[in-house]
Amino acid sequence: MQARADYPERHPGYSSNLASAEYVSKIRDIGSRIAHKKGRRVKLMEVCGTHTVALARTGITEALSDVIELISGPGCPVCVTHQEDLNRMIGIGQMDDVIVATFGDLLRVPGYRTSLEKERAKGAFIHICYSPMEALEAAKSHSTAQVVFLGVGFETTAPAIAALVIQAKRERLDNLSVYSAVKVLPPALRALLGRGNTGLDGLILPGHVSTLIGKKAFDFLAWEYGIPSVVTGFGDVDLLLGLSTLLNLVNAGRSLTVNAYAHVAKESGNPEAMRMLSRCFEEGDTLWRGFGLIPGSGLELRAEYAAHDAKRRLGMPLQPVQSAEGHDHLCRCGDIIVGQMSPLDCSFFDNGCDPLSPMGPCMVSSEGACSAYYHYRDRRHSHNRGEVPQ
Ligand code: SF4
Ligand code: SF4
Repeated sequence: MQARADYPERHPGYSSNLASAEYVSKIRDIGSRIAHKKGRRVKLMEVCGTHTVALARTGITEALSDVIELISGPGCPVCVTHQEDLNRMIGIGQMDDVIVATFGDLLRVPGYRTSLEKERAKGAFIHICYSPMEALEAAKSHSTAQVVFLGVGFETTAPAIAALVIQAKRERLDNLSVYSAVKVLPPALRALLGRGNTGLDGLILPGHVSTLIGKKAFDFLAWEYGIPSVVTGFGDVDLLLGLSTLLNLVNAGRSLTVNAYAHVAKESGNPEAMRMLSRCFEEGDTLWRGFGLIPGSGLELRAEYAAHDAKRRLGMPLQPVQSAEGHDHLCRCGDIIVGQMSPLDCSFFDNGCDPLSPMGPCMVSSEGACSAYYHYRDRRHSHNRGEVPQ
């Protein structure tokens, strides 16, 4: 199938400068050595969606694909937002006199039978924000409406959402609330590794989350699960340094969490941002696509911010999860998020599901694995057989 004219052609393969190409070849050497010992490719997880995109975009994923299998993890906030939360968010959009303020990526994620985008076409007021603070302006200029900001994100986005709530309280903006579906990453990694049999040889950890929570927050990976991991950034050099650091750990059989991004992410993170977070949020149990309920993995607004908590204010009944109907029982995003399959194994990939008509969040989100593979991977290796997965 030809690439759509309005999307870029896939990346032709790693073709950066000579020095980087040499580095890639050194990484390939270590990878081959390990693969030879193990009798299979080295299996590494990109925990964060931004890493999935960066590695695919630079062509590194493809350039190393014969020795290293890179798989996506639970690190895209849109992708891991559970269908039940989505249904509730869409339900808010359907309420009278409510303006939903949201990041654009959520708009096209299919909920049960509809999406925020479809509701907007029917007349719902959906305001696209580039930062949470824009919801504050919307609440000021539409004082007779309730403005609800959809708080989706990880530790990196949470301080900005906390700042919005704190400011709304300070300014007594009682027509502004937040629906929190904010999540924290370490409990999801516990849930993932706690399942056992992941076959993973190592984890690539997000540099920016580590900038907030600190590299220390990931040390349990080595102590509790005996798996090596590396914290790294998103530039070409960061990616290559992170990969070679991780492969050296795997090769030496060392279970350690190593910080290859120490110039930015500190051992204990950013205590000031974390204080802002805990001033506004407290830990709660929350649902993740692919995992279900993970205890202590969500951030809920503290009682003192109840006036700005959409869940409390709107008193919305929980809708049942409609996973037996609609697209979501066919779409395999849940399996991709938990590392059980690759987008290329989904029979709908580029065969009914693409960025213009996405069936699931992993194809909608700019950090989603399916979208990254669609734009940057060589789709000739797709395992599409045109069958409906069981
Ligand atoms: S929010 Fe941050 S941690 Fe999560 S996928 Fe995006 S970049 Fe990665
Ligand atoms: S290719 Fe489409 S249908 Fe398949 S898992 Fe990805 S988003 Fe879902």
